[in-house]
Amino acid sequence: MTTVTFDSLNPATGEIVGSHPKHGPDAVRQAVGRAEEAAGWWAALGAGERRRRLLDYKAVITRHLRELAELVHEENGKPVGDATLEIVLAITHLDWAARNAQKVLGRRRVNPGMIGLNLAATLEYLPLGVVGVIGPWNYPVFTPMGSIAYALAAGNAVVFKPSELTPGIGVRLAELFAEAVPEQPVLQTVTGLGETGAALAADPRVRKVAFTGSTATAKRVMAACAENLTPIVAECGGKDAFIVDADADVGKAADACLWGAMSNAGQTCVGVERVYVVDAVYEPFMRELSDRVAKVKAGEDYGPITMPGQLDIIKRHIDDAAKAGKVVAGGTGSVRAPYVEPVIVEDVPEESPAVREETFGPTITVRRTRDAQEALELANASVYGLGGTVFSRNTRRAMELARMMRSGMTAINSVISFAGVPALPFGGMGDSGFGRIHGADGLREFARPKAISRQRFAMPGMNLTSFTRGPAELERLIRLVTFLHGRRKR
Ligand code: NDP
Repeated sequence: MTTVTFDSLNPATGEIVGSHPKHGPDAVRQAVGRAEEAAGWWAALGAGERRRRLLDYKAVITRHLRELAELVHEENGKPVGDATLEIVLAITHLDWAARNAQKVLGRRRVNPGMIGLNLAATLEYLPLGVVGVIGPWNYPVFTPMGSIAYALAAGNAVVFKPSELTPGIGVRLAELFAEAVPEQPVLQTVTGLGETGAALAADPRVRKVAFTGSTATAKRVMAACAENLTPIVAECGGKDAFIVDADADVGKAADACLWGAMSNAGQTCVGVERVYVVDAVYEPFMRELSDRVAKVKAGEDYGPITMPGQLDIIKRHIDDAAKAGKVVAGGTGSVRAPYVEPVIVEDVPEESPAVREETFGPTITVRRTRDAQEALELANASVYGLGGTVFSRNTRRAMELARMMRSGMTAINSVISFAGVPALPFGGMGDSGFGRIHGADGLREFARPKAISRQRFAMPGMNLTSFTRGPAELERLIRLVTFLHGRRKR
């Protein structure tokens, strides 16, 4: 039987990077079947051995860092340096997940409370079984690894469906895993187009799906998962705001803003897309921004737009913004497929597509605000709620603004810094999705809490869960609960 294949292309040159099978529903079913068996084996290995194996996997990836970075560069288009940075971050997450899984998920005793005085209560987080990971193309190592590493560390087997634009990377991640864990296919990659991901989400033996991509596709994946009541984690991008307060260091703010917006050609779910600058520092901030953006070049500082179809969306947003606002850098001619030069537009109406919809390109809109409060209100008036940034020299005020920002993560006086802290959970709210990867929450996301209460001795005269219970026991219970809870006490 001939295998139907598809090609992954270098977005900068159009050259074929690799050819991969289009795995149909049968192949996906088989992969999930193998994963089910592997999951049992992996869970039975125990936390200590899993930790060792995952640290081995980390070492294998680290030894292949240059090769992987080159492949990311070829399939996604980003510069090799950025690809290296992405893989290094993924390595730190793999390390954290491996080292912390036992501590976060392992069995512990919890306080049984006064009424449960005769009980020993324990809590532990057990593996789910098979986890399906559906990954994107913009950070083809870092993003899926945020789910894969944590799911594996929690004792699950993973079937990974990379984006059709970056399948080679996905295949390589599973091949390298097999070097550290040759016995069983605990991490498998299935390749193909949307149908392959759909088949994975629809398989009832998949106990959880971790999805990264667009909100529209997340809804389709969730609908498929609903058939089997399969839970999902959805990371669907955003429209992140960058707030510059009156006492910010404008040079540092402009530098961070530019990198947060333009690096990876703006194809970053937590990339800067909307900038709100307090009136008092508006002019100096814009001067800094204009000076710096003049030195940033598409094709040198960042790569091409990976997904050709995205160019139309970016162009539509730029054209519309340029018509309604005032262009500071770039403009309608900045889209030169497959590249997009940096674009900065001021005073774009808040209801414009460039302010409301995810652009996923090297473009920002900038607006002057009366004060930080107004900046925050505008920042929060989005259907998305993924990340965000606050620049201010006043730590207390910056913390306040960050806490009030309607998003899952906020960086202060830095940009996207939360993504590099493995202990911090990553995820959003609203149209940005739900659930968390990374950190202790990310480990628990891929595990099920198991609660056990063990009776250590019978409570004399207090057998409440028996038909032999009489009025005297009930009376004792009422007295006890009145003593414990009947007083106004803080
Ligand atoms: P999609 O949401 O369509 O794709 C994301 C992943 O889902 C890919 O692996 C894709 O496979 C897979 N997929 C597609 N259809 C289905 C389906 N019905 N069932 C299961 N899996 C499916 O995103 P795109 O790559 O098309 O990008 C569109 C937009 O999404 C971008 O413009 C950007 O705004 C946003 N995006 C956000 C990302 C983020 O980091 N949050 C990452 C990538 C995109 P395949 O690639 O084979 O179609």
